[in-house]
Amino acid sequence: MDKKAAPKSSLDALVSLCKRRGFIFQSSEVYGGFAGFWDYGPLGCELKRNIKESWWKATVRNREDVEGLDASIIMHPAVWKASGHLDTFSDPMSMCKGNCRKLMRADQIWDIFDESPIAEALRGMLGDAGRIATWCKGKGKGVAPGLYTVQHPEHLETIFEQLKSVTDLHALYVLLATPAGEPEALPCPNCGGVMTEPRPFNLMFKTVVGPIDDPSNVAYLRPETAQAIFAEFPNVLTSSRQMPPFGIGQIGKSFRNEVTPRNYIFRSREFEQMELEFFIKPDEAIELLCGHVAKLTPETDLSEPQPDWGWECWHKYWVEQRKQWLIANGLPKDSFVEYWQKPDELAHYARACVDIEYRFPFGTQELEGIAARSDFDLSRHQEHSGKSMEVFDEPLKLAVRRLSDEEKAAFRAKTVAEWTARGKEATTAETFVDRLFEGKYIPHVIEPSSGVDRMALAMLCNAYEEQTITDEKGKEDVRTVLHLAPSIAPVKVAVFPLVKNKPELYAKAREIYRSIRTLCNCYWDESGAIGRRYRRQDEIGTPWCVTVDFDTIEKDGTVTLRDRDTMTQERVTLEDLRRRIMEEVL
Ligand code: ATP
Repeated sequence: MDKKAAPKSSLDALVSLCKRRGFIFQSSEVYGGFAGFWDYGPLGCELKRNIKESWWKATVRNREDVEGLDASIIMHPAVWKASGHLDTFSDPMSMCKGNCRKLMRADQIWDIFDESPIAEALRGMLGDAGRIATWCKGKGKGVAPGLYTVQHPEHLETIFEQLKSVTDLHALYVLLATPAGEPEALPCPNCGGVMTEPRPFNLMFKTVVGPIDDPSNVAYLRPETAQAIFAEFPNVLTSSRQMPPFGIGQIGKSFRNEVTPRNYIFRSREFEQMELEFFIKPDEAIELLCGHVAKLTPETDLSEPQPDWGWECWHKYWVEQRKQWLIANGLPKDSFVEYWQKPDELAHYARACVDIEYRFPFGTQELEGIAARSDFDLSRHQEHSGKSMEVFDEPLKLAVRRLSDEEKAAFRAKTVAEWTARGKEATTAETFVDRLFEGKYIPHVIEPSSGVDRMALAMLCNAYEEQTITDEKGKEDVRTVLHLAPSIAPVKVAVFPLVKNKPELYAKAREIYRSIRTLCNCYWDESGAIGRRYRRQDEIGTPWCVTVDFDTIEKDGTVTLRDRDTMTQERVTLEDLRRRIMEEVL
């Protein structure tokens, strides 16, 4: 059989497969859908569970130094005041003043334009001034009634020569949409209408707690899971008896009233996050304990955490851990890129932030972020709640006790100089050193934060392939296959009886199916030709199909095991089959 790979299909083909096979549905579809909300069907919820399970195992359960948390979605509104979300968690929003009155994120207008019917119409006309003018006077009236040149066709004469030379779609739009070709006055990508000035729009969903609808009872659905981890830090610290370096991981729903939810499940209004806050000692404490802070170099061995690691090593360690997890769960190394935010892009408190960006069909975009957030979050909660977020580090106190007065003075002078050079008050630095000398500090944090839904989308996009297959008779056929990693695939094994009408064979197949079902998610299919049954499983990403045939019952009890990716078949014993499942899936 000759197999040639076809180019990865567009998002549309994947969206259609996901609906047809029960991965993802529009929320409330029977009522026309609800923008920004999605439902995961029988296969989609298994896929998401597998992603979360794999993250939880790698990040929490398999580590001695990470604890789990499952906090409430609605928390005291003071949490959001302390975190800064009430004051600053906003996107710039603009509204179309023209026909469509659409609201959209001001910084996404070009992205929205690229997918709009206007762009679709104009794309094939670049450089053809005559066709563009005809479109503005004809079909353009329906597609873009607010467009300047549609409303003022006489203006086309003024710009006719320019229309011939424009080779860029965005430049063409600016030319057609504004009287003097001003890019800053970008019009609505939907209808060409004028947009309002961008205004900040807070992304938190409001609700009212209790029966009285009063401003004093307003609360918010959490826009991230991280803040609960900070607010619960003292409780987890004392109940788990951990000391930094240690982390708290949480998986749960988050809600953001996104102005323009788009790109399928990439940006939605309700989504799930997998977040780890990994608390570390401040570098100054490491210096007192170890006499130095490890320098991060390209040669630094990041496989095992070391006592002399400061924030830089820990941050890079978590970037590497997360990359390894992505690769282990099926995303090839070259399918994503590391984007290190530049100093002017970083939040004022952040030391570093890396976005892991996946090459989605609609562009290379953030899949997850790994940030070194200093002690900002815990300090804010200490300040706002009045409760201490400090830890007491006995070995640190003992290390300080061993220092001479001169050594202490030198350490103090150096710390104050470094802090003031970073723009901090000298008195703040002095207080920090005083507390440090007592063995006390507010831990710093490294935050790997990722979205389950975005991860599911990246894995589905990466897995989707349409292969053109030619059989022995030269007949071509298209095989749609999801090359999901076995750990992530919703169904791990499908069991088929070769025929339905042979009771002994059928009973044996049912017995095998039931025994595998106790190990992993397993699917039973007895209808249609075996080839068609294979295709149905390929399309949902099932790594292995098992066929129970006459040899199984009449000879040696072996079954045919067919591999999804190579399509090869081999005879295996049930023992072998179980071992393979245990090795690759569990
Ligand atoms: P973006 O810039 O794309 O809005 P962000 O930087 O605001 O994302 P974070 O606040 O860092 O995102 O959230 C961490 C992770 O949560 C993101 O990397 C992403 O995987 C996921 N996430 C954030 N917002 C959404 C959303 N609206 N829909 C789906 N997933 C999201």
